[in-house]
Amino acid sequence: MYVYIRTRMFLMELKLFTFIFLIKRKATKTIKRPFSNNNKIPCDAILLTAGCGLMELRWDPIMAQWIIVSGKRGKRPLLPEGYCPFCPGSKEVPEKGWTVLSLPNAFPALSPNPPLPDVGGDRLYRSMSSKGVCEVLIYTPRHDACLADLTVENVRAVVDLWTQRFEELGKRDYLKYVFIFENKGRIIGVTLDHPHGQLYAFPFIPPIIQKELTNSRKYWKRTGTCLFCRIMEKEIKESSRVVCENGDFVCFLPFFAHWPYGVHIYPKRHVTALTDLEDKEKTSFAQILKTVLRKFENLFNMSFPYMMVLHQRPTDGKSYPYYHFHVEFYPPLREKNKVKYFASVESGSGTVTFDYTPEMKAQELRDTPST
Ligand code: ZN
Ligand code: ZN
Ligand code: FE
Repeated sequence: MYVYIRTRMFLMELKLFTFIFLIKRKATKTIKRPFSNNNKIPCDAILLTAGCGLMELRWDPIMAQWIIVSGKRGKRPLLPEGYCPFCPGSKEVPEKGWTVLSLPNAFPALSPNPPLPDVGGDRLYRSMSSKGVCEVLIYTPRHDACLADLTVENVRAVVDLWTQRFEELGKRDYLKYVFIFENKGRIIGVTLDHPHGQLYAFPFIPPIIQKELTNSRKYWKRTGTCLFCRIMEKEIKESSRVVCENGDFVCFLPFFAHWPYGVHIYPKRHVTALTDLEDKEKTSFAQILKTVLRKFENLFNMSFPYMMVLHQRPTDGKSYPYYHFHVEFYPPLREKNKVKYFASVESGSGTVTFDYTPEMKAQELRDTPST
């Protein structure tokens, strides 16, 4: 009897295995890759028809990180002059009844239903499907404004939208990290003036977050305390790099700043994500954001370009008691009309050169009005 059952089970497994193998083979066959074999079909035709394999994640085994490859995105069309897809009444944007809005990115790098990747099964050159979510977060119906121009109530609505998107996308089990950010200014490559940010929800924990997690975990294990809390206490105590603060948040240029105006904003209470913030703290967050952004705008009396990123805990279901939510800015200017390039030393050796002192730059920002 036992032998009979074992044999049946073995046969069933074999059938299942053959079935999976055939499906995989079929999937491999149907994928036509624009860069493989002697493909005679012009690339544009493939972009319009197949779609397969034009979107995938490729593993860099040297740097141990995923690269998002999307053949289509490079071909995204330029918008007609004077047309704004984020203004009220545009295609997907309602005419009335909203302050902030999230929309799916029209040219996403990640998708909830991505095409199959190249199933080569090569252990060295691994790939996986670009399963994720890319959204555009519109800050206001007003076209001619920036986050700094909005009322604290409106900035608070943006904070609520961030919280809501983080919470909702964080529940999806294929999303391990919700990355919220804003690119501002032509110099960063932004082509749409309408005030907006974005989010990329990744099926993996991105490497910079991973590095912060590893190091803060080590510190937590060694000292039993939060690395970020200790940094914040030290910055407040030394005060020379503090730009501004309120009851619940502090903004400073860290002792180890990477960018000339690369300020960080920390909540004073140890929280790992926006969802941990209380109502009053979310308003304080909106207030300090507005203050910092006003200072940026007033610094050179111009629309100040920056990259702004929210660093929250991952959403992979694990617990990260040692992580501390914070915001980081990477403004590309080092003086008015002078750009700080992340050139060979920064890009090729991963070592940052800071041509001033963080204390000098913090002083400049402290002295700049926030009106
Ligand atoms: Zn607009
Ligand atoms: Zn902390
Ligand atoms: Fe960080």
